[in-house]
Amino acid sequence: GKTGQASDTTSHSKIPELVETAQTERMNATFVTLARNSDVWEISRSIRQVEDRFNRRYHYDWVFLNDNDFDDQFIKVTTALVSGKTRYGKIASDHWSYPSFIDQEKAKEAREDYGRRKVIYGDSVSYRHMCRYESGFFFRHPLMMEYEWYWRVEPSIELFCDIGYDTFKFMADHGKKYSFVLSLYEYVETIPTLWDSVKKFIKAHPEHIAEDNSMSFLSDDGGNTYNHCHFWSNFEIGNLDWLRSDAYIDYFDTLDRDGGFFYERWGDAPVHSIAAGLTLNKSEIHFFNDIAYYHVPFTHCPTSEQDRIDLKCHCNPKDNFDWNGYSCESPHFFFRIYFLLSGIPLSRL
Ligand code: GDP
Ligand code: MN
Repeated sequence: GKTGQASDTTSHSKIPELVETAQTERMNATFVTLARNSDVWEISRSIRQVEDRFNRRYHYDWVFLNDNDFDDQFIKVTTALVSGKTRYGKIASDHWSYPSFIDQEKAKEAREDYGRRKVIYGDSVSYRHMCRYESGFFFRHPLMMEYEWYWRVEPSIELFCDIGYDTFKFMADHGKKYSFVLSLYEYVETIPTLWDSVKKFIKAHPEHIAEDNSMSFLSDDGGNTYNHCHFWSNFEIGNLDWLRSDAYIDYFDTLDRDGGFFYERWGDAPVHSIAAGLTLNKSEIHFFNDIAYYHVPFTHCPTSEQDRIDLKCHCNPKDNFDWNGYSCESPHFFFRIYFLLSGIPLSRL
């Protein structure tokens, strides 16, 4: 049980207090999951944790999207687990297929080449459709059009600590449009020409580049080359109107036309991250340091013991990834990011 000392929040004052009763003001928000029927048990584990740690107090909706029809089992099991309304959408085939301007023979040769080089998911067609869908289409699905905010959840994730406040309301109240918990380096081989397309976009659409952008997070040479830092997009809380804005759509269309989703293996993580870094002001990107999260193979666990106790965390702090050399938040990059993005407590130093 809690004692009087629980009200002493000075050591972790950045984290809003846990309120057991949900607030009355509901945000126009939903969870969103892209999944196959075969993902049912892995997504069930994720849902259970999201519900226990957060949604049992808020009952937000959950949208499931699939390039096939969901089967009865998937619908039955997930509906039983979600405390809000569940909705199931089939993806339109023109959002999950080759656009007319793609040379499918060239795409096939690229996949074979990536397969020979043993690049992760390098030989997969479906993974490429998935990355393109998450980059350019999920936010325009008819079911998603009804919402302003989304929280992306993937199969087999873990949430290690209580989240005692409405993260959607937090985003809205603080003028945030995009958020992350882990940042790392993208595999170079998957995106050899992505930055060329980005530079094309910057040149063609200077009107979409935010004044106070995060170019110095993305590039170490003033925008000439990409340093491969990106936010890990299997966790995202974000604003759907931003993704549906002219700025984002012009950006996505520029990239899509160049064909790298098929001729290379562009992931939605660098695509979203670069868009956020260029079209949003720094103040609109949020680092959820207090959301303890796992997606294979990386963990984000609060470094402060008091936070872990107050938030009833079950992660091992030794597993925290931030200080690993592969993280874009490792000490080498830490100072730069600290000054770029608000909300990172100095206590982590
Ligand atoms: P990873 O995290 O990059 O290893 O990729 P995942 O296998 O987790 O896929 C990312 C997300 O897309 C997950 O939510 C998957 O359930 C989903 N996904 C991946 N491939 C497909 C597919 O072919 N069809 C559908 N409907 N969902 C997919
Ligand atoms: Mn995944």
